[in-house]
Amino acid sequence: ERDGPAVGRETRLRVVLRVRPLTRTEIQRGDRRVVHSLGDGTIHVSAPRHNATFGFNAVFDAGTSQEAVFEGSGMRQLVELAIDGFSCTIFAFGQTGSGKTYTLMGPFTQNETRPAAPGLLGLMQRSFACLLEQSQSCSSDLALSASYLEIYNEQVRDLLSPGPPCVLPLRWSKTCGFYVENQLSVDFESLETITELLLQGSQRRRTSAHALNRHSSRSHAVLTIHVRSRAPSTRPSKQGTLCFVDLAGSERVKETGSSGELSVEANNINRSLLALGHCISLLAKSQGKRTHIPYRDSKLTRLLARSLGGSGVTLMVACISPSSRCLSETLSTLHYASRAR
Ligand code: ADP
Ligand code: MG
Repeated sequence: ERDGPAVGRETRLRVVLRVRPLTRTEIQRGDRRVVHSLGDGTIHVSAPRHNATFGFNAVFDAGTSQEAVFEGSGMRQLVELAIDGFSCTIFAFGQTGSGKTYTLMGPFTQNETRPAAPGLLGLMQRSFACLLEQSQSCSSDLALSASYLEIYNEQVRDLLSPGPPCVLPLRWSKTCGFYVENQLSVDFESLETITELLLQGSQRRRTSAHALNRHSSRSHAVLTIHVRSRAPSTRPSKQGTLCFVDLAGSERVKETGSSGELSVEANNINRSLLALGHCISLLAKSQGKRTHIPYRDSKLTRLLARSLGGSGVTLMVACISPSSRCLSETLSTLHYASRAR
């Protein structure tokens, strides 16, 4: 058990919504905007036969800057909690093309190996900067390390180890709970190093997706920053984590009928996203009480069990497109996200 301050329900789970702008293509083909922020954390969907309002801890409309999302989502507080020994998990959820990767990393396109312009950096890099700032301030002495994994088709791969990503076993032990065997963990002390690790790992994720003839949107990517505070010997040292999860696209994949493989893959994604939503909402409701959390239902929830459980703190960023063409997936994202809360 941790000795940090107890956190309230509002802090334990926050669900925020981000609406991306209409793309140039969407504007050119005349897509209509069907979602409107009403202020005060609510969003209204208005389309023929659809009129619904959804509430969140915060709503970031199409014009919201990356910096405003960082500040408005409570991300700065999560960094402080991680330093204080808490496990913090940040999810980006939504259909492919809704802005998950943009929100976490910035405009990060195919073959892009350079980091984004400073103003466009995502939640990840802003958190790294915040963490390193704190680390360099004299009040805290932090040891930082990173691991980066992807889950594709219920297999865990290491994105930091050189060479083609190899599959790693996900095991369970009485003392550690669920853990990934042989995963690489790399120490870092500078923004350059961790940014480089992030870029290399993300490049590897795309390369492996390409080799499998699949878009990287079909895999979950999990970047974990371990934060160990080296307190004076009089105090126990604390171990917190910041875990960023770029989830697989939540869209329902159309069954082709011919390819059995695709439907297995789609089932795996649906199952893991369902299991995740289920665990998160049970965790949020069970505060203080002993409740069985069904982590075993998917690789994703097993992998995240340690981070989500105990005194874990979760931020879910639901991402949607404002376009009329995405209406049904948008409604499904809004329902999923408001259920989690
Ligand atoms: P996902 O990771 O959910 O598949 P992306 O993050 O790749 O989606 O976003 C899809 C496209 O939309 C990208 O070209 C991205 O740069 C752009 N985009 C997403 N969100 C925003 C935003 N808030 N502002 C500007 N462009 C965005
Ligand atoms: Mg993406």
